[in-house]
Amino acid sequence: MDKTTEVLPGAYIAGAWRAGSAGVYEQISPVTEELVQRIDLVDASSVDDAVVAAREAFSSFSQTTVEERAQLLDRLAEELSVARDELVASVVGELGAPIRIAESVHVDGPIRIIQTIAAQIREFEFERSVGNSVIHRVPVGVIAAITPWNYPLHQIVAKVIAAFATGCTVVLKPAEAGSGTARLFVEATQRAGVPAGVLNLLCGRGSDIGPALIDHPGVDMVSFTGSVAVGRRIGAAAGERIKRCTLELGGKSASLVLPDVQGEQLIKAVKVSLANCLLNSGQTCSAWTRLIVPESALEQTLEVLTDAVAKYQEPARLGPMVSAEHRERVLEFMRRAEADGARVIAGGSTSAPSAQRGWFVAPTIYAGVDPKSEIAQEEVFGPVLAVLTYPDDDVDAGVDVANDSQYGLSGAVWGAHDAEAARVAARVRTGQVDVNGARFNPEAPFGGFKNSGIGRELGAAGIEDYLDYQAVQLPQ
Ligand code: NAP
Ligand code: MG
Repeated sequence: MDKTTEVLPGAYIAGAWRAGSAGVYEQISPVTEELVQRIDLVDASSVDDAVVAAREAFSSFSQTTVEERAQLLDRLAEELSVARDELVASVVGELGAPIRIAESVHVDGPIRIIQTIAAQIREFEFERSVGNSVIHRVPVGVIAAITPWNYPLHQIVAKVIAAFATGCTVVLKPAEAGSGTARLFVEATQRAGVPAGVLNLLCGRGSDIGPALIDHPGVDMVSFTGSVAVGRRIGAAAGERIKRCTLELGGKSASLVLPDVQGEQLIKAVKVSLANCLLNSGQTCSAWTRLIVPESALEQTLEVLTDAVAKYQEPARLGPMVSAEHRERVLEFMRRAEADGARVIAGGSTSAPSAQRGWFVAPTIYAGVDPKSEIAQEEVFGPVLAVLTYPDDDVDAGVDVANDSQYGLSGAVWGAHDAEAARVAARVRTGQVDVNGARFNPEAPFGGFKNSGIGRELGAAGIEDYLDYQAVQLPQ
């Protein structure tokens, strides 16, 4: 049957695929605006079956050894590698991501994370003695994992792999736009031998399935990645029911250039910051969407940006927005920024993207941005960079601009000396910060301060979020 006429089942419960009755999700390519695939959706009436399956599986899966689970992760990484082409095609279909970004960032990155977590749990201290007690780290139980569409595979991996690693079982509710990739992930877990019920999938509307999942007495913990607005409601509902809850929310991260950065280093800092902002068309929670430079470096910064941004041609180097509605939302932000007096250096709300069709937004740079204005404070989730300045002789003022945010997810500091830049980085109130273009580390914890969330993914901290303590006292 043709992919576009076949309707794929959107639920996987207790090891079997199931069709739903909540309508069909028609996934449209953001590049061609053509139908890619159709997925059957379920509604809240499927939540109980999925949670019961996860509870039943928990009694045996929670008793597996660390080595058994590490080997399961090794096999899963292998199965995802075998399915690499299919996964890449799926992410391209969902996001319209440029192929090289789809390969390296959307697919190879998550596979590497699985391998990293497998290695980390082999070293993790699941048991230790204190006096007459043995302290066991035990799995929290059944996890409701709710994920966004922006990095469809990565977001699933960050939660589900931590659950598998610790002996938890999962009900996964992916974003509708990421349903196809979620299905491929589930198929890989089947081939890798993940036991029935350990991972259950519910494709459907978050506003319907989400509250039912959080309410269900069989769910022990909610792990959510998405917007602040939805995160607030999830945190409140989880608090009401005394359930553990981790929230990975939005960001408005800053790349701060110190006054001693000059010449080639300034060019590099500006180019890398732009690339970070535009990665995944700006649909990245940790994107450095504010570039903060000393006043005297502004002119050269804008020259470098103008040159560099011209290379981001759609669709080869810059993908579209995920949906027509999201594009409109991004354009609205841009119109308000321009009305607020932001100066258009490149792109802008009236600039036509170079692609003829698709939900593209021209990559946009604003200068003369008031640090209190919406474009400096709110997450746009599009290819939009705001350039801000601070007085040359006042690094403290630069740090203040960086910290003037409701968010605290990510960021960067650039300086002529690594050690001094690292000292400034320590004053930036965010969950992670990169000094002088240092690379992403999958072994380090990822998560946010302030409205960027609660809890961590990846690293030992990401494993611990799925574990509880049990102290067993022994007679001496
Ligand atoms: P979203 O609208 O908050 O949705 C996230 C997930 O929650 C989706 O699966 C959604 O389902 C579901 N959902 C919607 N309403 C719900 C409700 N009332 N109860 C429970 N679940 C509900 O976010 P998004 O638009 O997918 O993603 C963009 C946002 O995610 C941005 O703000 C971004 O910063 C944030 N994000 C954060 C991180 C991080 O690690 N900190 C990473 C990536 C993205 P539907 O799709 O069916 O609506
Ligand atoms: Mg949404």
